[in-house]
Amino acid sequence: MEFRRKDRPFVIAGPCSAETREQVLETAEGLKDLNVDLLRAGVWKPRTRPGNFEGVGEEGIEWLREAGNAIGKPISVEIANSNHVELALKGGVDVLWIGARTTVNPFMVQEIADALKGTDVPVLVKNPVNPDVELWIGAIERLQSVGLTKLGAIHRGFSTFQKSPFRNSPNWNIPIELKRRMPDLPIICDPSHICGSRELLAEVAQKAIDLNMDGLMLETHRNPEKAWSDAAQQITPVQLHNILSELVWRNPNAIDMEVQAKLEELRATIDGLDRDILDLLFERLSVSRNIGEYKREHNITILQHQRWNEILHDREAYVQGKELSQRFLNRFLEAIHEESIQQQTQVMNAKKVKE
Ligand code: PEP
Ligand code: MN
Repeated sequence: MEFRRKDRPFVIAGPCSAETREQVLETAEGLKDLNVDLLRAGVWKPRTRPGNFEGVGEEGIEWLREAGNAIGKPISVEIANSNHVELALKGGVDVLWIGARTTVNPFMVQEIADALKGTDVPVLVKNPVNPDVELWIGAIERLQSVGLTKLGAIHRGFSTFQKSPFRNSPNWNIPIELKRRMPDLPIICDPSHICGSRELLAEVAQKAIDLNMDGLMLETHRNPEKAWSDAAQQITPVQLHNILSELVWRNPNAIDMEVQAKLEELRATIDGLDRDILDLLFERLSVSRNIGEYKREHNITILQHQRWNEILHDREAYVQGKELSQRFLNRFLEAIHEESIQQQTQVMNAKKVKE
């Protein structure tokens, strides 16, 4: 199995979890005529908290095998230990994938690699939940070192404690670095687990294609709202069809991965600098508020025209000869000045209320 096609992205679709025979068969039927290359379903589900649906187990493989045969597509399941490997191979699963919670654990990955020794089963390795490219590469190397050659990676985003529109932050630099280190390894993006909700799927899928990834894994369910796991992020086969048909599929040869990587690096620098600018601005405004208090204590007016004129002249002189237009400088200073006055006024009013 090649996880890469010339004409369009390689697509993996199917439910997060196999729930019932009918659900698997009906979902697969909806995918039959779409550009889907591999059918997926989880039968052993790694749930964050106990007490949730943990998968139907071995029986689910039979349903998936039946569904794959019915629509003429190969099938894949997640495996997390040697017992899963044995059952999946016995059940005729074509492709295995290692989940994000397993890639983090070298003992488990080694156990899986040992169980696969002597076969050449295709395996996809999801990124570890933490943003660590070495751990991701390490897992792939463990599989390579037992002789597996049909390998690919799945980018499903990374856990973060920070507030973000994503369930798992994409950290695009990490799959780009993986591509740089392992240029021949196909990389498939999993927008479903990155987004955690349906709304952003199309945008993330397009971004993955723009970054020259080889394919997409999108969780698809006959009735997503009623799904037993990951209900908020699954889509119907019709919605999948719509997302796939709106993707702009760029000619991979026209996109140089190194150019993209450089661009991402420069953008990351800009992101960092913007934060530095904002941090300095917070500091400046905090000094303004202190001035506000001080003026209040000494009964001085907030706005002193002479001081404002001094600021303008001083800053104009400071940027002489630099690449910054006079117009921008004035607008920038005025905006800061306006916010300072606003915050100083708040400080004064807050004091008045107290008195
Ligand atoms: C899944 O694909 O359903 C899954 C559990 O994914 P991940 O390992 O990326 O969380
Ligand atoms: Mn899922």
